[in-house]
Amino acid sequence: MAEGGMAGGLNLILLGPPGAGKGTQAKRLEERYGIAQVSTGDMLRAEVAASSPIGLQAKAIMDAGALVPDEIIIAMLAARIAKPDCARGFILDGFPRTVPQATALDAMLARLALSLKAVIELRVDDAALVARIAGRFTCATCGASYHDRFKPTRVAGTCDVCGGKQFIRRSDDNAETVAARLAAYHRQTAPILPHYRAQGKLFVVDGMAEIDQVSAEIESVLADIITKN
Ligand code: ADP
Ligand code: ADP
Ligand code: ZN
Repeated sequence: MAEGGMAGGLNLILLGPPGAGKGTQAKRLEERYGIAQVSTGDMLRAEVAASSPIGLQAKAIMDAGALVPDEIIIAMLAARIAKPDCARGFILDGFPRTVPQATALDAMLARLALSLKAVIELRVDDAALVARIAGRFTCATCGASYHDRFKPTRVAGTCDVCGGKQFIRRSDDNAETVAARLAAYHRQTAPILPHYRAQGKLFVVDGMAEIDQVSAEIESVLADIITKN
């Protein structure tokens, strides 16, 4: 496949507010292009579950719907993208989330002689996000994302992907925290969009469409990019 030969890998960012569908789409891209999903939220939740020093520091911040300090996230991300499974490319899901994180990422990529191929912004109305987050649950085994109304499992109680029978709901997926997370997105994350627009790397996709339609739109953006590389 063409993407296998892409110099430095198919390195992407999925940007969008909480509940926009980043995790859902990142999993599909991982499968479709053989690149690694790098979710800083998943990494932080693993640290919390392990009660590591980072986890202990992050838990209260995450439960309040605020952002974990840049230094912690940047160090975590730098170690992650240097791993071998990122060599063919990676999808950053939930990073960068602040202007300092975006600047640090530029420096990191320059140091590793890597380039960013595209930043895909999933645009979704705030009102729709609240409903998405309130109904979200994931497979405890493989991380596949589901929704009570919009994406139930095909067989009740069984993961479509791995057959797992245990599911998780996040403690921060509640109405109070969602408001804080949306505010953090608009105040701290949305300001990084012009940075990527100026680099000609920003592609906006309508995240209000159905999951398959969103995937199709992302694939059509990427098909163009892969041809040009
Ligand atoms: P994010 O990673 O951006 O926070 P998720 O991928 O976890 O978002 O999606 C949030 C919730 O919305 C999940 O329950 C998911 O199943 C559901 N979802 C994702 N994309 C769509 C879509 N296009 N339409 C309806 N529901 C969606
Ligand atoms: P969502 O896309 O649903 O908001 P994530 O799983 O990406 O959720 O993030 C969950 C929480 O983890 C955030 O609310 C924040 O506290 C923390 N977090 C994740 N990624 C970052 C990041 N890049 N910078 C700062 N905090 C982060
Ligand atoms: Zn599963």
